[in-house]
Amino acid sequence: MIPKSHPRYESLMMREKISEGVKKGLVHETGMIAHGRGEAFDYLLGEKTIPPADNAAVAAAAYLRKAKNAVISVNGNVAVLSARECIELAEAANAKIEVNLFHRTEGRVKKLVEFMENKGGSNILGMGADARIPGLEHDRGKCSAEGIYSADVVLVPLEDGDRCEALKKMGKKVITIDLNPLSRTARTADVTIVDNVVRAIPNIMDKMKEEHDWDEIMKNWDNKKCLQECMAHITRRLSSYEF
Ligand code: ATP
Repeated sequence: MIPKSHPRYESLMMREKISEGVKKGLVHETGMIAHGRGEAFDYLLGEKTIPPADNAAVAAAAYLRKAKNAVISVNGNVAVLSARECIELAEAANAKIEVNLFHRTEGRVKKLVEFMENKGGSNILGMGADARIPGLEHDRGKCSAEGIYSADVVLVPLEDGDRCEALKKMGKKVITIDLNPLSRTARTADVTIVDNVVRAIPNIMDKMKEEHDWDEIMKNWDNKKCLQECMAHITRRLSSYEF
């Protein structure tokens, strides 16, 4: 048991969820490494939503609101950290949820679909993938025809750079959530939210409820500029750090 008074309670709880997820076969063991990389970047951000990430959440809300067939892609880490939030966002955005894994096994997809259903999700896609993302070798390219394959907008938190690029080549608008502004995924996506998935998903939900000129936001969105602002924020923060 981690006491709530522990100064790093939230961070330790996330670790616990990832570790439990590995034990239950929901998270691949490399998911722990990905989480560790994310933690390091979260430290550099100050473990809070920085202004450029907040702007990116507005852009993500714009793309989700304007989508005809949006899909939220969920992997093991995202499920154990943010299942309920993903389900709520999918409901608000009229989006589908697809379990889609980098280290795919049908057994783990099934476990994750059941996990999402137990958290209140319905029609969770991913089992018996019947389509392929062109350019990715066998298992990594599998997806659902009804879901990612035919989506116009895909929200893929914690994605791998190759797959992000392959989705872009299919002509999709890709929104990602990645604590590392330097990752290939962050640099390839149309909208990159440099924030922890546990903060970013509820933040997109909040933005969707606001009044904005959504077309104007999409027209003016400059993802590279946003990534530069994220880097500038980290640099400023580190160079003025007081020990
Ligand atoms: P790429 O292939 O895009 O260059 P990578 O090799 O780092 O990136 P992975 O290890 O597959 O790709 O992806 C993990 C990414 O997810 C890392 O960049 C990490 O910073 C990020 N990440 C991990 N945990 C979280 C989290 N809770 N919220 C947001 N991002 C996270």
